Amino acid sequence: MKARVFSGVQPSGNLHIGNYLGALGNWVKIQHDYESIFCIVDMHAVTIYQPHEELRAKIEETAALFLAAGIDPKHSSIMVQSAVPAHAELAWMLTCVTPVGWLERMTQYKSKAETQQTVSDGLLQYPVLMAADILLYQAAIVPVGEDQAQHLELTRDIAQRFNSLYGETFVMPQTSLPAVGARIMGLDDPTAKMSKSAAGAGHAVALLDPPDRARKTIMRATTDSSPAVDFAKLGPGVENLLNIFQAFGAWSDEKMRSHFSGMRYGDLKKQVADMVISHLEPFQKRYREITSESGYVASVLRQGAERVAPIANSTVDLVKRRMGLYTERA
Ligand code: ATP
Ligand code: MG
Repeated sequence: MKARVFSGVQPSGNLHIGNYLGALGNWVKIQHDYESIFCIVDMHAVTIYQPHEELRAKIEETAALFLAAGIDPKHSSIMVQSAVPAHAELAWMLTCVTPVGWLERMTQYKSKAETQQTVSDGLLQYPVLMAADILLYQAAIVPVGEDQAQHLELTRDIAQRFNSLYGETFVMPQTSLPAVGARIMGLDDPTAKMSKSAAGAGHAVALLDPPDRARKTIMRATTDSSPAVDFAKLGPGVENLLNIFQAFGAWSDEKMRSHFSGMRYGDLKKQVADMVISHLEPFQKRYREITSESGYVASVLRQGAERVAPIANSTVDLVKRRMGLYTERA
């Protein structure tokens, strides 16, 4: 039996090249080596208010982006978190073994809470729900961007605590980061991670941006006061542009150095834009094909949920038995 992979994306805005390079692209590469489950984590999205009239459409859009990236629905399950109630059930049980202090220390909680007038309890509980997503499927590998590494560590801490209180129950999941592109920074501010939820037209290149918009955003990216690329002292904006190029182009460090050393920033940006657009165009063509077939995405999601629900339910049953909770399913 193949080991299991689990990962997810929130349908909380427009997916960007950081999501592709940090997560989706990596999923596509490894999916066939594992039994793979890729999830649209809508219950995570609502930890911060989402325009509810748009959320449902965003869920299907995100699934279509998974397919356009190359996730093979015959092999990998693509599913929506809220379609499998076991995610919420297990989250509650794990909440009861998670000290509040562990959650209050999370970087994402602290930075997202700062942007909210009222901080929902869900925002604090977010990493417990994420632990439930992963542990529910006894996933061995979780391919994510670097920003999620802390939540993965917490997932292992929660699993360990549960196992020591109630006996061996959960597989310890390993974090899998891409070698390049694990943390793409904002193009307007290279000190902040590129995020779906960040405001500002110059912040991100979305996967569905028309090529001329993508080019404009890259050409306006923040760099520094030097005129040309100097690998001895790279500013964060230039380093980010080089990272984006290298991750899309799969170039070696040596090739990057010899090609870009001394290149003026204007030329660097033009080459980054060409590289990004050469990947976005075929991707967007596949997206249009996928979404033109009415009912296709919904059927992929239905099949995905049907395939994974028995795994999820059997973990919930096991956890209930371990904790002494009531279950009729023996
Ligand atoms: P939000 O602002 O709504 O949190 P996000 O851009 O952080 O959006 P998520 O849905 O939280 O996206 O994360 C989906 C996946 O993309 C995760 O695996 C995450 O680690 C990865 N990811 C997110 N941002 C980046 C980034 N800037 N660089 C690389 N990977 C990223
Ligand atoms: Mg995020």
